[in-house]
Amino acid sequence: MIFKLTSKGNNLTEIASRLYVDKIPTPSEYKNGIEDCKCIWTNLAIYSILYDEQYIGTYTAGKTSRSYVGSKNCKKIDKSKWIIIPNHHPAIIDESLFKTAQENISYKPEPINKRENGTSQRYGNIERPLKGKVVCGYCNHKMRLSSTRNAVFTCMYTMAAPDTPCHKFKIGNNELSDVIYGLVCNHIDSLLQADNASNYTGNETETVDLITENKRKVREMFEQFTRNEINEDEFASVKRQLNEELKRLNQFNSTINSETGKLVSIQVIMNELKKYAKQLKQEGTLSKSIIDLLVEKINVYPGNRITVEWIYSEPKSVDLSTAMIA
Ligand SMILES: [Zn+2]
Repeated sequence: MIFKLTSKGNNLTEIASRLYVDKIPTPSEYKNGIEDCKCIWTNLAIYSILYDEQYIGTYTAGKTSRSYVGSKNCKKIDKSKWIIIPNHHPAIIDESLFKTAQENISYKPEPINKRENGTSQRYGNIERPLKGKVVCGYCNHKMRLSSTRNAVFTCMYTMAAPDTPCHKFKIGNNELSDVIYGLVCNHIDSLLQADNASNYTGNETETVDLITENKRKVREMFEQFTRNEINEDEFASVKRQLNEELKRLNQFNSTINSETGKLVSIQVIMNELKKYAKQLKQEGTLSKSIIDLLVEKINVYPGNRITVEWIYSEPKSVDLSTAMIA
């Protein structure tokens, strides 16, 4: 069906809509035997089928390699090194239909598209700090930011699915940035208030002293043993006790060390934050560096409800901030 539609001159988006209406499961839904299929095809999935030579009876293998058995990292292999056996099995698609379909489709990856129509050349230099952070709260897919002057985030995932809640769901970059600016300012303030970096000093040197003392005792026991002042059994049992004690001390010491390590990095971030807080209030706008430092993800829901997932949060508080755009 994909091949027929394409040779009739339908583009990828039109085909995706048709596949959705006809409730055709996507390759991964089909492979995983998912019963409740969403049937939302991406352009890339359709494109891969159009170029899959298995449909004209060619057997292909060795397209990817793994560094070890069971590894999840796949490496793409150059086409010249693939195993290709033409007429391996009966063709599902007529070869001429296969060719026409490929000729009809003019798939261009996004960046080329944008460069061609010139918009990103005109507006490409404007910094867009929220780009790549905004996720559609309904379908959990990243929203795409247009590169026009009044840029908008759009949920592209459900473009072909008119009956989904986030179909053609959009939110303006400017209004979203205003709301996020307010949330970021509040978040920084609360982080700076919750300064709790002074509980651990002192403990570390104490355990180190105890460890040295423990080792000294073991040495002393050994000397007593060699001087025949204690017998072998006595030495073994005391040594066992001291070893257990040493193990516990070492463990405690490594926890302390990792805690102090954490505290050091929090301190570094706090200093960064103080710098940024000043900058934020002076400039009144968000910068990419501050968004990258603080924001994990921004969820936007239809009805303009917004939640922010922070990278660092103050202790004992919820990791989310919520806001609405009026
Ligand atoms: Zn969506």
